[in-house]
Amino acid sequence: MPDIAHTPLAFRFPKPAPPAATYAQNTKEFRYWTAAEALRRGADFWAVVVPLTAWELGKTLPVLLDEGQDLNAYYDRKALNFFHGPSPSGTVYSGESPDVICHEMGHAILDSFKPQLWGAASQEVAAFHESFGDMSAILSALQLQSLRSDILSTTGGKLAQASRLSRLAEQLARLIHEPFRCGFSASVLRLGDGRGTQFSAARGTARFRYAGRFAGLGLIGGTAASAMGLRRAS
Ligand SMILES: [Zn+2]
Repeated sequence: MPDIAHTPLAFRFPKPAPPAATYAQNTKEFRYWTAAEALRRGADFWAVVVPLTAWELGKTLPVLLDEGQDLNAYYDRKALNFFHGPSPSGTVYSGESPDVICHEMGHAILDSFKPQLWGAASQEVAAFHESFGDMSAILSALQLQSLRSDILSTTGGKLAQASRLSRLAEQLARLIHEPFRCGFSASVLRLGDGRGTQFSAARGTARFRYAGRFAGLGLIGGTAASAMGLRRAS
């Protein structure tokens, strides 16, 4: 069972944990345990990679899983904030996605390690923050043996191919981009194949264009392969 109070990177939810049990999707209990598992998995990964003894804001990082209606999620040096929004198939909660959870936690990790990057007057720095968040989502996902096996199976070991690993936060991205009618594809947030800039089409900001560029450094083809003990796929 994930221990959110585990240090050095502890979390705190406003309400007590629901009893550990099997819950249906789209219940607040399901969202709690999904978030708790993803946060603990991601933080435990980073805790052995970066020399952190606490978050930028202190020992414990608050997590607010449903702060109202918005297709959004963010870290603001006070908490990890998640929201909900409508979709044709029902309400979507950004805090129900481990990709989104571990992306936002990545911002908090980087802010704790390099606080001088926060709010820097540079689109490149903001883009690096976004890219780091996406790398956090990918590397946290790779801690799951079941996902690693699935990626190897579905790509035939060619890790640069689109896969569940490269398609980050598909559900939320689809809803955010839908109003723009910009030819969005389900792999819009994918990284590592040089087409991450597709994400910029809707938002049209340098921040996201650069995020795609940074992400194109070959994380999936390189780092993921190393993490899985493989040679880089051509
Ligand atoms: Zn972000």
